[in-house]
Amino acid sequence: MKVTRREFFKISGAAVATLPVLGFDLTPAMAQIGDYRIKNVQPVPTICPYCGCGCGLVVYAADGKVISTEGDPDHPINQGATCAKGASVFQLHDNPRRMTKPLYRAPYSDHWEEKDWDWVLNEIAQRIKKTRDETFITTEKVKTRDETGAEREIEITVNRTDAIATLGGAALDNEECYLYSKLARILGIVYVEHCARL
Ligand code: SF4
Repeated sequence: MKVTRREFFKISGAAVATLPVLGFDLTPAMAQIGDYRIKNVQPVPTICPYCGCGCGLVVYAADGKVISTEGDPDHPINQGATCAKGASVFQLHDNPRRMTKPLYRAPYSDHWEEKDWDWVLNEIAQRIKKTRDETFITTEKVKTRDETGAEREIEITVNRTDAIATLGGAALDNEECYLYSKLARILGIVYVEHCARL
């Protein structure tokens, strides 16, 4: 019988819970683990967002809170392993250094100011619209060859702006990257980049 790593831990966990180990009574410890680690825990398979390797991860959540993450032993790419970056993915969720408010540094300023989301989103929207309106290109002349091989110039529709570029962050998941690239292309942005290159 083939036993997966996850099943092995389940079986061995059950065995430890029911047997005295080296004379110690593990009942109180297992009760605590049962309360905090196993009870109501929901394992959710997902993909590491950090790079294009696409390693599988399992996120364990209980009562709406992520309590642990690990490499997915059933995933064909990484088979349970992660690199150091993937192993640190838990801190995306639980990190005392995580910024919770937008920071803005005005042009030529030497310091950052806290702003609320309404101000920041309005500012971004206005700047994108202004830049796009001022730089939008609808058509472009390109060289081509006709059926006789002679070079000629034709005008083609391009509908783009070269003045805006976008850069997605590694914490974006597949669905967020899809929406983000759709938005960029709708706006006519052609420089669409993301550090994970999913
Ligand atoms: S960052 Fe590491 S764990 Fe994440 S996909 Fe890349 S190699 Fe895998």
